[in-house]
Amino acid sequence: MIFRQLFEPLSSTYTYLLGCEETGQAVLIDPVIASMDRDLEQVHRLGLTLAFSLDTHIHADHITAALELKHKVGSQIAAPAFDRLVCADVGIEEGVPFKVGSLALQPLHTPGHTDGHFAYFLGDRLFTGDALLIEGCGRTDFQNGNADALFKSVREKLFTLLDDTLVYPAHDYKDRRVSTIGQEKKRNPRLGEDKTLEEFKTIMAGLNLPYPKFIDHAVPGNQQCGVCPSHLPDDLARYCAQMTDSPQG
Ligand code: FE
Repeated sequence: MIFRQLFEPLSSTYTYLLGCEETGQAVLIDPVIASMDRDLEQVHRLGLTLAFSLDTHIHADHITAALELKHKVGSQIAAPAFDRLVCADVGIEEGVPFKVGSLALQPLHTPGHTDGHFAYFLGDRLFTGDALLIEGCGRTDFQNGNADALFKSVREKLFTLLDDTLVYPAHDYKDRRVSTIGQEKKRNPRLGEDKTLEEFKTIMAGLNLPYPKFIDHAVPGNQQCGVCPSHLPDDLARYCAQMTDSPQG
């Protein structure tokens, strides 16, 4: 398998490029509209064809590149069926492998950050989205988030995978790139094995995080598989810089 971890600095998002060496087909997990051209360049430089984009959930902090990639290179849009996005070409369900050439990703429904959130497992790699971050996790106070559900998703689903499984999160804000299931079980200060559900709920209820600054634009845009709002306030315009830098006509 061809594998690249790509970073989008504005939202600190990791986009993952997975390519099948036999068929030349590729998928981008959680591509961001602002870094779409950079990601496509990588795909093409590696001699791959982008067959799919695949999102872990409806993001609140950036606009997915899914729709623009489809317009530009004809890739199909894969997204959790749970969210019933009319713009999606493929609905992801747990128990149904998602195939890209000879690669077969195992989708794992991992609600809690959002109710429709999925992680994807392939070989020794786990793409955890925002369900499990390195020594952290996604917030649970928006988009039908639920701390009980997230605890269950991580402890009863993700933590049952082998300790050596590599954890590739959708974000990191401290320049870390990868962890393992074993390391998160030991070191995650919210969800580690020494934490109880009650402790986790107390931690999540006490985070006091600010209202997400882009959520009111991102969620409706991502429910359409990645539409940039036409009238963005100046301080948010760079979230859709791709669109203003290269007008789509
Ligand atoms: Fe998220």
